[in-house]
Amino acid sequence: MKIHSVSLVSSNPSYKTCPQETKPEVAFIGRSNVGKSSLINALLQRKQLARVSKMPGKTQLIHHFLVNNQVYFVDLPGYGWAQVAHATKLKWEKMLRDYLLHRPNMVTVFLLIDAKIPPQAIDLAYMRWMGEHHIPFSIILTKADKKHKTVAQKHHTALMHSLQQDWATMPPIFMISAHNRLGIEQLLDYIKLITK
Ligand code: GDP
Repeated sequence: MKIHSVSLVSSNPSYKTCPQETKPEVAFIGRSNVGKSSLINALLQRKQLARVSKMPGKTQLIHHFLVNNQVYFVDLPGYGWAQVAHATKLKWEKMLRDYLLHRPNMVTVFLLIDAKIPPQAIDLAYMRWMGEHHIPFSIILTKADKKHKTVAQKHHTALMHSLQQDWATMPPIFMISAHNRLGIEQLLDYIKLITK
């Protein structure tokens, strides 16, 4: 998939005000700091389109990027923030889940997992929840740079084992590095294929 044009169409606090479901979309979710902004910037070949940050801002928004006037890339709020009040976390998670439940044009949700650490319970819980609600998802292992290859491979295997306990068919799994652009072109080709 070649990127010809990208525009940030809107940033919304709720699914209710998001763009109409007239075009196919793919969405990106994951724990805070998983490398979501870096991945979106690498896919869209822009340096600062999605903001790379370590701390949560006061508001969490749902960002719609329209790509090639054809497909939305949706940057959803991160989950699992460590330094955020419980009530705020619940509010953000509700916003995220409400969104995922109300987008009939969603082709797949890419759930990002940090390849440098073992699969976390919250990631597995999100997968289970999406499965229960028939929300299609794929997995992306992030930060799988060449220098972290051995550890990334080990966590990939651990993830496969955990998934095999829950799923009869496995979701697609991609390994990428936003820093080295490893796996980025393959992921773009996959997005092109599924959003045709
Ligand atoms: P977000 O909070 O999920 O949007 O994550 P960010 O994109 O802000 O990245 C969080 C941290 O992970 C930053 O310090 C990034 O530099 C780092 N990071 C992101 N992508 C990669 C990658 O491909 N390789 C490595 N080694 N670090 C990465």
